[in-house]
Amino acid sequence: MPTKPILLWLRQDLRLSDHRALTAALETGAPVLPVYILDDDAAGAWKRGAASRWWLHMSLASLGATLAGMGTPLILRTGRTAEVLGTLAAQTGASAVYFTRSYEPWASTLETKVKDSLEQSSISVRRYSGSLLKEPEAIRTQSGQPFKVYTPFWRAVLNSGPPSKPLKAPTSIKSLTSKVATDRLADWKLLPTRPDWAAGLRDAWQPGEAGASARLKRFVAGPMAHYTDDRNRPDLEGTSKLSPHLHFGEISPNQCWYAALNKAESFKGKADRGLETFHKELVWREFAYTLLVHWPDLPEAPFRKEFAFYPWTKDNKNLKDWQRGQTGYPVVDAGMRQLWATGWMHNRVRMIVASFLIKHLQISWQDGEAWFWDTLVDADLASNAASWQWVAGSGADAAPYFRIFNPISQGEKFDPEGTYIRLWVPELAKLPNDYLNEPWSAPKAVLDHAGVVLGKTYPEPLVAHDLARKRALEGYDLVKKANLANADS
Ligand code: FAD
Repeated sequence: MPTKPILLWLRQDLRLSDHRALTAALETGAPVLPVYILDDDAAGAWKRGAASRWWLHMSLASLGATLAGMGTPLILRTGRTAEVLGTLAAQTGASAVYFTRSYEPWASTLETKVKDSLEQSSISVRRYSGSLLKEPEAIRTQSGQPFKVYTPFWRAVLNSGPPSKPLKAPTSIKSLTSKVATDRLADWKLLPTRPDWAAGLRDAWQPGEAGASARLKRFVAGPMAHYTDDRNRPDLEGTSKLSPHLHFGEISPNQCWYAALNKAESFKGKADRGLETFHKELVWREFAYTLLVHWPDLPEAPFRKEFAFYPWTKDNKNLKDWQRGQTGYPVVDAGMRQLWATGWMHNRVRMIVASFLIKHLQISWQDGEAWFWDTLVDADLASNAASWQWVAGSGADAAPYFRIFNPISQGEKFDPEGTYIRLWVPELAKLPNDYLNEPWSAPKAVLDHAGVVLGKTYPEPLVAHDLARKRALEGYDLVKKANLANADS
């Protein structure tokens, strides 16, 4: 039985259950030392956004407390990952580093660097899967290519056999007998201080494995049965809100997959529709990762190259108004304010606000992507990039560019009683439903009665919908011409 310790290098796998790298390390019988390294300067990394930094702090605090309860410290270090792991291995006499695979292009490069560097010092390095249901390389078309279209990808995932069953959390971890120095989490200054804007995040979320597990239990016990119908309704608790927990690996997609499946079986078929729709959403996440792994410039460049010719506008005032929820379109403003207050926005509303930025304001999807990256607690390189490109029409299997969301009818359809708008745009709360999505069309007497003064208590619309639509389609003509020119050449 080996006695030399194993370092468990943690990243987006901040949990103990269904953790293959941890389970494998424990099975050797060696002491295991969990380590998290803050390597903000890793080459090519997208610098973590402010909301992600907040979540990371909370999640590490939670994991640290759980581990401490089991008598094992969580070691925190800053610096270049390969060097830090090398130093820790030398200090502890560790003979191996185990970790869960990450899929961002920079993270893959880092993994190779860590492996090369540690193996030179005779430290073995073992990588395990644990963040996706299937490895991106395993799901391919019949001709061996990665998928660019979602539906056949989904079918291929199903045909590839059931995802692995989740592993149980260990009841104990054999720890090192010697004490190992660690940073203090507070010294990493991941939390906002002046000003402390995180009150809304604290109210909305319980980061960490226990919070993730509670969220999953609540979802399968209630909303899942109505998920197919309600998932597009921002006014209802219709979705799981598991996205930040999945991003930080506080729960695995396998745990979500099987919890939903087991619950549906206990409903004796009644929740089948909800089950399949939920599984399909988990697979959208896989699809985004497949795209990122095979097209690593997805976060920066249009997947369909002709979109590089789109004549984007640089308009800082309009960008700021969009970011602050001051566009004059109530459902857009409600979404942007929900994002600012809670670090999360409903998927339907993400599509509406993204379409509004890109098509109504003619501001590039990369500007929207950057704002989401900074403000979302679930900011995820793969899902964020793939989704922005989907809305922009420039992505793989994207919505056609000419599909321009109408922010008035979308609000009326998906927030029929106006509950969502009234919650996030309280200055419009007294407007009757007929005018709630287009306050500018309300007669003066109605506005007066509701206490709304356009341009004062609530903004005039930044742009008229019909004009915006026309302008967006004109911009698209350039993309079409570029596409034809490419086809000719
Ligand atoms: P549920 O409806 O409960 O779905 C369950 C899980 O499936 C989610 O937690 C998520 O992991 C996955 N999922 C659902 N929809 C999608 C999707 N369209 N693409 C990929 N995975 C999906 N999601 C992120 O996790 N991070 C992002 O940075 C992100 N940026 C987005 C940007 C835009 C412009 C748009 C339109 C969507 C974005 N999404 C992103 C996808 C989606 O909006 C969120 O995953 C979803 O709203 C999370 O809420 P939920 O956990 O309640 O989802």
